[in-house]
Amino acid sequence: MNHRSGRSGRSRWAAVLILAVLAAPASAATKAIRAGKVIDPNGRSIANVVIVITDDRITSVSSGPPPAGADVIDLGRYTVIPGMIDVHTHMTYYWDGTGRPRGVTRLPAVSMVLAQANLRKTLETGVTTVRDMNAAELTDVAMRDLIRAGSFTGPRMFVVGYGLGITRQPYRPGNLPGPGTVDGPDEVRRRVRQLIASGVDWIKLFGSTGSFEDVTQNETFTFEEMKAAVDTAHALGKRVAIHSYGPDGARDAVRAGADSLEHATDMDDQTIAEMAKRGTWYVPTIDHNRYYADHAGEYDFAPGSVERLRDFITRNLDTARRAVKAGVKFAMGSDAVYSMFGENTRELTWFVKAGLTPAQAYVAATANGAALLGMEKSLGAIAPGYYADLVAVEGDPLADVNVLVDGVRLVIKGGLIVVDKRGASESGR
Ligand SMILES: [Zn+2]
Repeated sequence: MNHRSGRSGRSRWAAVLILAVLAAPASAATKAIRAGKVIDPNGRSIANVVIVITDDRITSVSSGPPPAGADVIDLGRYTVIPGMIDVHTHMTYYWDGTGRPRGVTRLPAVSMVLAQANLRKTLETGVTTVRDMNAAELTDVAMRDLIRAGSFTGPRMFVVGYGLGITRQPYRPGNLPGPGTVDGPDEVRRRVRQLIASGVDWIKLFGSTGSFEDVTQNETFTFEEMKAAVDTAHALGKRVAIHSYGPDGARDAVRAGADSLEHATDMDDQTIAEMAKRGTWYVPTIDHNRYYADHAGEYDFAPGSVERLRDFITRNLDTARRAVKAGVKFAMGSDAVYSMFGENTRELTWFVKAGLTPAQAYVAATANGAALLGMEKSLGAIAPGYYADLVAVEGDPLADVNVLVDGVRLVIKGGLIVVDKRGASESGR
């Protein structure tokens, strides 16, 4: 240790000089945004604010003038909000628009590279952070790292690797169980540790049947298996999301200590009360079934699927209403796959139908997403020290939730403009 640092004593000066040279253009690239309005973390709007950005972080938020020499971005006619957070995506599920979305025969790595289109469409919705919920062969880990390294342009990603599920009957001929198939608490513990050792940020369990046009709700994992996953992940500092379409899986997921519960429909009042008490996040993902019903032909769903999907939506919304009344915390999750990217934030319109105010829906898409991820000190607010992930919207999102869906005009991620639709909106009017 000593020998090493001694030897590098002289070269350290060289390193300092190199760093100084590298730092020069970054400080010259200080930006100042003039925002017509910003919304503070309590959901109040403040007029005429200057946000100063140095590198990828916000360094000040004030009513004062922009610093001399700063590159000024004039967003005076917009409301500026923090980048939104979609906590349930399937970014690596890519469809090229030919054949059927689910008829993919490419290698997962090829799909992952092509799925840069999903990343771009997601940024265009004003989403600058996602939690991605299942991917083949750790391609989500690769995608996250390529974005971090600047090789891909996309939202910040928090990833699960592959979601864990139990061996299911009946087998489909020729379909071998994948690495996410685990049975019994011991196998669950082992796979959770392995996934975390492979670099995932979260653990996901498929705690019930149900996906795409299949809206069955049968619990899969036992309570003991869920508990084994939660305890193992928590001991290693990671959080757990449990998918359950139905009430039984939801009840056990909440009791087992899941950090977030996905989809859960038809929950009993006791489970909802328990979520409110424990602070379990609810990610109801109502809109994705609307998307499937609207695009049933494209997906080649079986006859009767649309009726089943629409019935599930009604019950999903009803469950969400009861959760709102009980004070359960909501986060925005689109469950976007294949062709649904670009509609990530439509989930918020369902939140308002479920009884949240537009301001509460805004919080669900920003501060709540950040808190769910454990990133409440870096994401989901416009304040010094936070990442400079900012979205300019046209209109007042506190009065109309559709502003968050259709009103996005400019997106900044880590201090860089990644989407600019200002010209399009002005010439279109
Ligand atoms: Zn999903």
